[in-house]
Amino acid sequence: MAYDRDNIFAKILRGEIPCKKLYEDEHALAFPDINPQARQHVLVIPKGEYVSWADFAARASEQEIAGLVRAVGKVAKAMGLEDSGYRLLANHGPDSHQEVPHLHVHIFGGQKLGRMLAVTRED
Ligand code: 5GP
Repeated sequence: MAYDRDNIFAKILRGEIPCKKLYEDEHALAFPDINPQARQHVLVIPKGEYVSWADFAARASEQEIAGLVRAVGKVAKAMGLEDSGYRLLANHGPDSHQEVPHLHVHIFGGQKLGRMLAVTRED
């Protein structure tokens, strides 16, 4: 899938749409999800133009990959979730209901998160 420069997260990165920046460095940006699905719900995105995890894994530099992974760890820690725990999620494609075609990692926490998936294998 080609990268769409008009996606919402590209606009956030360009400053065309506001977000509450929780963390930013050379490679990554973190901000709260506009429609939180848990008491704490933060998105961490790479600054480069990547649609999915596979796209990122194939094309990103070692520095970008380390940057995103480290940013997720730092943000989860800054959210105060190290002891209580949290869940990471990266959606890709129609089966996952990915809405925004710019790679992003969801961090959920601040409450009991239930079982891994809301759907059963029969759904
Ligand atoms: P996906 O379903 O693609 O994994 O998740 C996209 C997420 O982006 C959704 O949870 C949605 O609420 C969030 N989102 C969509 N538009 C905006 C926005 O303009 N600002 C913020 N902060 N989050 C957004």
